[in-house]
Amino acid sequence: MKIGIPKGLFYFKYYPLWKTFFEKLDCGVVTSPTNRKVLDSGVKLCADEACLPVKIYHGHVDSLNGKVDAIFIPRIVSIMKHEYTCPKFLGLPEMIKNSIKVTSRIIDTTVNLRGQHGDLFDFAMETGSIVTKDRYAIMNAFRDGLHEQHEFEKRLKECGDFESALKKDHDRNIPRPEKIAILGHPYVIYDSYINMDIAKKIQREGYSIITPQMIEDDIIRKYASKLPKRHFWTLGRENLGAGLSLLKCTDVKGIIYLSSFCCGIDSLMEDYLERQVARSSNMPYMKLVLDEHTGEAGFNTRLEAFLDMVRWREQNESNVSTHG
Ligand code: SF4
Repeated sequence: MKIGIPKGLFYFKYYPLWKTFFEKLDCGVVTSPTNRKVLDSGVKLCADEACLPVKIYHGHVDSLNGKVDAIFIPRIVSIMKHEYTCPKFLGLPEMIKNSIKVTSRIIDTTVNLRGQHGDLFDFAMETGSIVTKDRYAIMNAFRDGLHEQHEFEKRLKECGDFESALKKDHDRNIPRPEKIAILGHPYVIYDSYINMDIAKKIQREGYSIITPQMIEDDIIRKYASKLPKRHFWTLGRENLGAGLSLLKCTDVKGIIYLSSFCCGIDSLMEDYLERQVARSSNMPYMKLVLDEHTGEAGFNTRLEAFLDMVRWREQNESNVSTHG
């Protein structure tokens, strides 16, 4: 059986798990590269109000449609106890079915770990049983998938580069001491097409990068728990906790938040983080909002201006804010 995994959204979080799981069950796994054609078809097929990552996801489903036996579009309700993902993830299979005439089978099993009885194992069993009736094989495939996922996350923590961590050729060179943080959702900060290769551009300017996935989970939790209200969006909480944990790091010279136009979660969480940064530090901070109309020239200009400002402050102001 040939399974298509659209290269968007939680592909950038769980691809090693899903790929290993299906391959161990003797399935072929197919993805499609993100390019202009995928983006254009996604924009055409998807509702206008959706964010850029959801539009691109539509484009990937369209490009896999009919070329594989089944397309894996899980309904990811929750990946943490007492927390949720974004509403777009909850209704993703329905959204796709209403926008695209999908001829391949859709595998739309549900992941919901919010409550006491949520279990990732049930999800694996339900998904695997579409491919085989051998429960033992499903259990083994899932265990191997979790192992791959764990190893991948360790590599990503070291290098912050999704593709390198996936290919196991991550750079083990000693990183440059000065860092720029890139915050945002994994499918924005690791999709080099969406973010116009921002990490490479920053590295070319002489900085290392740091992303939320490079910070220990307990540190992110600790800082996120200092907020007056408990946040129940997993990705929002991770970005907030990561951002706050960096404010006292002297090797971090600036924070860039990559946000998607129309993202409800970012409109709250990013604004909250920006206020906290301004209130409790003098860390340079910039938000870049991306959509299908974002031009690379304007994007580069803003990035270059931000990095110039970071350098200028380091050299001329002893890191004191121009506001005093
Ligand atoms: S969290 Fe924001 S960017 Fe992500 S899918 Fe939801 S609306 Fe889109």
